[in-house]
Amino acid sequence: MSDTLDHSDRPWLDPDTAPFIKVDGITKKFGGFTAVDQVDLEIFRGELFSLLGASGCGKTTLLRILAGLETPTSGKVWIDGVDITQLPAYERPVNMMFQSYALFPHMNVAQNVAYGLKRDGIPKEEIVQRVGQMLTMVELSGFSKRKPHQLSGGERQRVALARALVKRPKVLLLDEPLAALDKRLREQTQFELMRIQEQLGVTFIVVTHDQEEAMTLSTRIAVMNEGRFIQIGPPTELYENPDNRFIASFIGSVNLFAGHTLTRNNDLYTIALNKHDLQCQIEHTQHLDNGSPIWVAVRPEKITLSTTPLAGEGLNQLMGTVDDIAYTGNLSTYRVKTQSGDIVEVTHPNQSRSRGSQLIADWDDTVYLHWTSADSVLLSE
Ligand code: ATP
Repeated sequence: MSDTLDHSDRPWLDPDTAPFIKVDGITKKFGGFTAVDQVDLEIFRGELFSLLGASGCGKTTLLRILAGLETPTSGKVWIDGVDITQLPAYERPVNMMFQSYALFPHMNVAQNVAYGLKRDGIPKEEIVQRVGQMLTMVELSGFSKRKPHQLSGGERQRVALARALVKRPKVLLLDEPLAALDKRLREQTQFELMRIQEQLGVTFIVVTHDQEEAMTLSTRIAVMNEGRFIQIGPPTELYENPDNRFIASFIGSVNLFAGHTLTRNNDLYTIALNKHDLQCQIEHTQHLDNGSPIWVAVRPEKITLSTTPLAGEGLNQLMGTVDDIAYTGNLSTYRVKTQSGDIVEVTHPNQSRSRGSQLIADWDDTVYLHWTSADSVLLSE
């Protein structure tokens, strides 16, 4: 195998690639309240990067600092090697798309998209050509004469996107870009947004509180809480290798079993669960003393449920009774009460149409839960 790895689609892994946007020790205080607390961040050219977190965690404040709409209390921001911390918003190579879209109601679609170019004194012919190109890209060519109130929510979102992109910013900042759309349209528009971003190669930074949206859209996600980054990584890394219980629970569902370390052999720890008669072995690269408190995290879809016990090397097994079953069409979720009284969630895809054959166990059945050590993660905090 070659030891020269191609990091062209994952530039954050390449130490020779310079970040396009660099946020260095940014703090923002409002009076005595710290909204953004000493954050460092590197975003690479062409990324679709998401800031994800619950309401009030500081993500919009950070986006507004990047846009130049908010001044940081301390720290610096660079774009393309230039320190832009003191640069006013209108001189920055960025554009922002607001959650409300902020379209001018008295202007038609083409006038809305053309507005910024006109203000910059771009020649009329070029404006017509660039607006036309943008409307084609967002698939609204036939809508140029309509006013915003004659459009659906999804169409308004695309006009706002065209208006933000027509000025060819190096970076587009999007504050909850799909929040005004219903679930179906939001899902459809996520793919549209990805297509347009890929086609233009513009770096997108998206603020969202919707973890599914962040997972679908992003090259990488920074999960924020109380003004700080808890973990930054690609969606699969956050989901499969969370750093801590906060991330494991915030991204998707998880079963957490409290335990402690017994022994370590290289990177393989033997763990005892506190409330279950089960020892398991899990790989973990960081040092933990014997007896350290830990948590074993297992995703509900990684657990197999059966009505008979299974034996196998490296197979972890717990017994319980089915407490509840939730049918959600594509999946069934089994809530299993173990002998310790804990509830463990297991999801199972519903592959066949007949409900009778989908159920692998019924209410109050005794069942066995199995997972392999490789499908569980050891968390120390
Ligand atoms: P949401 O998803 O609800 O928009 P957010 O993560 O984007 O939340 P921010 O808007 O960045 O959160 O706000 C972070 C914190 O800073 C909040 O507690 C908010 O009340 C506070 N805050 C934001 N702007 C100001 C301001 N101008 N003055 C005082 N406090 C502010």
